[in-house]
Amino acid sequence: MSGGAEIPHRKLAPGKLVIASHNQGKVREIEALLGPYGIQPVSAGALGLPEPDETGTTFAANAELKARQAADLSGLPALADDSGLCVEALNGDPGIFSARWAGPTKDFRIAMQRVQDAILAVGPDAGHDAHFVCALSLAWPDGHVETFEGRVDGTLVWPPRGDRGFGYDPMFQPWHHAVTFGEMDPDAKHAMSHRADAFAKLVKAAF
Ligand code: IMP
Repeated sequence: MSGGAEIPHRKLAPGKLVIASHNQGKVREIEALLGPYGIQPVSAGALGLPEPDETGTTFAANAELKARQAADLSGLPALADDSGLCVEALNGDPGIFSARWAGPTKDFRIAMQRVQDAILAVGPDAGHDAHFVCALSLAWPDGHVETFEGRVDGTLVWPPRGDRGFGYDPMFQPWHHAVTFGEMDPDAKHAMSHRADAFAKLVKAAF
């Protein structure tokens, strides 16, 4: 710690905010979360903005590059999210490659099987601890950017359970709960998720 004065966070003024995601599920979830703050969300898709290549090596770097590009091209503040599952026994994999482990058909049964097989390949004593991470970046057209990270810890179960949620939800059981995210009421998941954790930090800083 430098001991210097903390730099204050930049506040987000009421008005338009580009949601730099082409995933309709994410756009809807973010719009709902921003509803109470006088923000008019505009999706990147509606503005015809391209999807940048996610060339970063961290969740934060990928969220930042998506938010920066959308702010540059639109001339408006922009918000982007990058998220994924990190398995402790796999040194954090699949991590930023979480979507890619599902292959070209985006089949998460395949992705979950790959995770389970990779853990078993580590050895019989490999643990099943894991966490989801979400990085949210807010970028302004003048180049200023702020990033907030959230996480939720749990354990991976096999076989997967439940068909609610998406992605790796059916194999992720958050600590202190007896059900997976795939079995949980969506409102309960959204209240404790990595995305909710990152959002709480963003709201505290930006509003
Ligand atoms: P992104 O769109 O590049 O951020 O990819 C995120 C990927 O991480 C998704 O395709 C899911 O596989 C996984 N992921 C992120 N958040 C969740 C979640 O809440 N539940 C299940 N899987 C998730």
